Amino acid sequence: MPELPEMETYRQQLTRLIIGVPITGVDVTRPKSLNVDPEEFAGKLIGNRIVRIERRAKHLLFHLATGEILLLHLMLGGWMFFGTQEEKPDRTIQVDIHLGNNSLSFIGLRLGYLHLHTPEVTHKLLQKLGPEPFELNLTQFRNVLRSKRGNLKVTFVDQTFLSGIGNCYSDEICFEAGLLPLRKVPSLTDNEQLQLYQAMQALLREAIAVGGYMEEPLFVGDRLTGQYNPKCRVYDRKDEPCLRCGSPIIQTEVSSRKCFYCAHCQK
Ligand SMILES: [Zn+2]
Repeated sequence: MPELPEMETYRQQLTRLIIGVPITGVDVTRPKSLNVDPEEFAGKLIGNRIVRIERRAKHLLFHLATGEILLLHLMLGGWMFFGTQEEKPDRTIQVDIHLGNNSLSFIGLRLGYLHLHTPEVTHKLLQKLGPEPFELNLTQFRNVLRSKRGNLKVTFVDQTFLSGIGNCYSDEICFEAGLLPLRKVPSLTDNEQLQLYQAMQALLREAIAVGGYMEEPLFVGDRLTGQYNPKCRVYDRKDEPCLRCGSPIIQTEVSSRKCFYCAHCQK
């Protein structure tokens, strides 16, 4: 599932590609991906423009010139493609927003959604999310940790604790901090909290800078998207040597989520 760095990469790239371009058509092959009837959806979009793209946690908010917001969550398996009819991947497209010669395609949107809301409703829907990792200073981070009793893995993927971190980056951050994902939050020393905070900031910034881990490019010639994939420290690297100490990476399951770590150099 795309996490904060993947959605931030989409936001930055799409901002350069689609802002201010008039919407000329809409195709919907999976009405369930929407929260309104496809005709109403098309009626509100055609002739409209996306004026700003915002990211909140793993959501993108496409702000329309008329004030409404398209709220996107790709969930598991969702991705986007931008390009001409000829460039489109040979995949089922659930929602296609035409922007002149190009279109923005939403693919793999079986669990994900693209909902049309007013700003007030959008705000209400997102208010349960915890703070963004980049909005927290160290003191605030220590304060939110104080309320947690579980292990690091479960804590990081809890969207009411911090928003935007999922299965991959929770393991990557723990590795970077030298801490086991199974460590209980109350057992962390002050120094370990600091290591965790610095690892989280550094790792997420690096992942954004290299375009996250999505496997499919956003457009033909996209050289950015997915460049974090070969840089993954532990995630999906079962039995491969640890980049720090050479020990084989362990794969386990924590609360029915895949979890990867090095048993030798993570404490
Ligand atoms: Zn190691």
